[in-house]
Amino acid sequence: SAKAAGRGTYRQFEATMGAQLHAHQQMKLALREALSRGELELHYQPLISLHSKKVSCCEALLRWRSPERGLVAPDHFIPIAEETGLIVPIGEWTLEQACRDAAGWPADVAIAVNLSPVQFKSKRLVGAVATAIKSSGIDPARLQIEITETVLLDESEHNLELLQELRNLGVKIAMDDFGTGYSSLGYLRSFPFDKIKVDRSFIHDLPRGKESLAIVKAVAGLGHSLGITTTVEGIETEDQLNIVSSEGFDEAQGFLFALPMSASEIMELIRQSPPP
Ligand code: C2E
Ligand code: MG
Ligand code: MG
Ligand code: MG
Repeated sequence: SAKAAGRGTYRQFEATMGAQLHAHQQMKLALREALSRGELELHYQPLISLHSKKVSCCEALLRWRSPERGLVAPDHFIPIAEETGLIVPIGEWTLEQACRDAAGWPADVAIAVNLSPVQFKSKRLVGAVATAIKSSGIDPARLQIEITETVLLDESEHNLELLQELRNLGVKIAMDDFGTGYSSLGYLRSFPFDKIKVDRSFIHDLPRGKESLAIVKAVAGLGHSLGITTTVEGIETEDQLNIVSSEGFDEAQGFLFALPMSASEIMELIRQSPPP
């Protein structure tokens, strides 16, 4: 009967939910050990200066090499790390490791590190950034902190103060995924960002998307008049590169140039990068 079939479907649903919950629980437990077991890795993706055509910066992108799961992408475990608070020690490790790796690169190549809004709830944030700079010995101006607008959404007063404290250390502050939030423009007034990085969703439908093109043009103009470095992520085609180049963007990042790669591979790539 339909009723029996319905019950069967429900049981299946319950079983699936149960399995998913179990997998999530397992992942939480495993992630707790990942850091001490040395399973976390930083991959790096270059940002190319559209003026010099050289690598101007490399973004650190976290990966989890899990024995059971293989190489896990950040979208799959960072939410769990945030939920459990593990993002605080993981984020501190990331800052230290990224700065240490950057210390081996030419001094004109910057290092970008993503910070989670949850890290702004930690009292140790500013100290952790200062420690990473000090122990690696890099010029603080080479470190670029990437935040999303979520950092300014909640606890905005407190977080603005923290951003200013970070800025006082000499690091640069970048607004990541620009344009995806509700009031990205307003944030440009509340904090003097050093860099804006246009979200790849605006690049994805170029050259066809009229609206995206209008937005990309507007951001280029805005960055220029505010004296903010303009970057785009997600450049995958020559057409897209030509558009952002002619609109005057300072930098670009995307699969057209390079995928995220290991620390030793990025070192090779930086070495091969043509001189100015
Ligand atoms: P994000 O900071 O916006 O980083 C850019 C993401 O776009 C990276 O994905 C990168 O691989 C991808 N990407 C770059 N170029 C292209 C392209 O041309 N096409 C496409 N389709 N994608 C491109 P990834 O490495 O999976 O990272 C995803 C997100 O995870 C990051 O987005 C960032 O929000 C977060 N994340 C990564 N590492 C960290 C970290 O150390 N700490 C924190 N809090 N978040 C991190
Ligand atoms: Mg980023
Ligand atoms: Mg981004
Ligand atoms: Mg993103």
